[in-house]
Amino acid sequence: MKATDFNLSTDLKFDLESGITSFKDSRLVMFDTNAMGLLREKLLNEIGYDKARKIFLQFGFQNGYADFLQMKTAYNFDSEQDLLASGPVIHTYEGIVRATPREFFMNREKGEFYFTGVWTNSYEAEQYLFYHEPSREPVCWSLVGYASGWATAFFGKPLVAIEPLCVGKGDDHCEWKIQPPHIWGDEVKPYLEAYEEFFNKLKK
Ligand SMILES: [Zn+2]
Repeated sequence: MKATDFNLSTDLKFDLESGITSFKDSRLVMFDTNAMGLLREKLLNEIGYDKARKIFLQFGFQNGYADFLQMKTAYNFDSEQDLLASGPVIHTYEGIVRATPREFFMNREKGEFYFTGVWTNSYEAEQYLFYHEPSREPVCWSLVGYASGWATAFFGKPLVAIEPLCVGKGDDHCEWKIQPPHIWGDEVKPYLEAYEEFFNKLKK
């Protein structure tokens, strides 16, 4: 199947007997975005910017990594590229953001990977701006975490997504760029620190 053939609404299962809502083998829960925004804001206030960002990056990474494994085992995509591109599709179905891929390049032998795209209607940027003036840094931490986790699971080697543009810092849309850590400059440091345990597991 093509990435765009995926339709989450037909594969969601609601079981009122057990109270378990699922997508294939994953149990899902739904939260109002205002509650998620409040959780993020409280964490920011209670534990500070760096620690809150780290937790949200890890939360997103785990989510993206798990979604990838689920998609890979549950569906037969026509090509490797369709499997990769199903990430932005499911991210959009989940209501987190509208994700539109733009450029993609990969050479597995040489360890080269480059994937960019546009994010609109990020719930995380929306929630950030509900509480704050525009930031000087990108704010969609769980989104870049998700993209990093998804791409890393696909590639089998560490990859880091960072937002060159973000609505949370006053841009009119967000953008993601995913590439290997060593291609990034100093800006990659907090991301590497957050993903350390995930990346270490890949080496084993
Ligand atoms: Zn953003």
